[in-house]
Amino acid sequence: MLRTILLGPPGAGKGTQAVRIVEKYNIPHISTGDIFRENIKNGTELGKRAKAYMDKGELVPDDLVIEIATTRLLEDDCKDGFLLDGFPRTVYQAEKLDEFLKAHDSKLDIVIDLEVGEEELMRRITGRRVCKNCGATYHVVNFPPAVEGKCDKCGGELIQRDDDNEETAKNRISVYKDQTEPLIGYYEKSGNIVHVDGSISPENTFDQIVKAVD
Ligand code: AMP
Repeated sequence: MLRTILLGPPGAGKGTQAVRIVEKYNIPHISTGDIFRENIKNGTELGKRAKAYMDKGELVPDDLVIEIATTRLLEDDCKDGFLLDGFPRTVYQAEKLDEFLKAHDSKLDIVIDLEVGEEELMRRITGRRVCKNCGATYHVVNFPPAVEGKCDKCGGELIQRDDDNEETAKNRISVYKDQTEPLIGYYEKSGNIVHVDGSISPENTFDQIVKAVD
């Protein structure tokens, strides 16, 4: 049983660490960004609404995100824990999540804050490539695929996320500072937050996370 949140700026490696954490602790990975991207791909109404904000690097309105995240948390596979990746992103979302968990006799076990400096974030975001088919992530310098433009795992086409261009990335980092960083103080008050160095290798970051969780 592990109920946890991965906090950190865009490009901190939340997605990479999430894959490892959910495998080790056998919990579902709930990424609100992934849910939106899936909806955009499928051309749903929700996807259309979210895309306008995402393309600018802005946050999707709180009420919409809260509804999506809490609906997902009600699914059966979340009974024995979950990893929230990219939610909450505002203090209001965090308050609503607390209310939701309390109403369901639940609470967070730990909040994991991934720390990475701003220059490195930009380098990581703009170099990121993702598989159109399976969602695996690569980096043009740090973690290139064996064959350029092709996913090692499934052979799918590697693309750059629409919001990973330099201008949008800058805005996402600034939105993070204004609206999401205050969450660190919020969770420091309520207790269980750990700060983990996200600028080292993914393996070493994961070791730090496991130490903190266990
Ligand atoms: P991510 O994949 O977590 O980087 O999210 C991509 C984009 O989806 C963000 O830049 C936001 O536009 C939107 N998004 C994802 N999660 C949230 C959230 N909790 N609150 C508001 N917007 C979100």
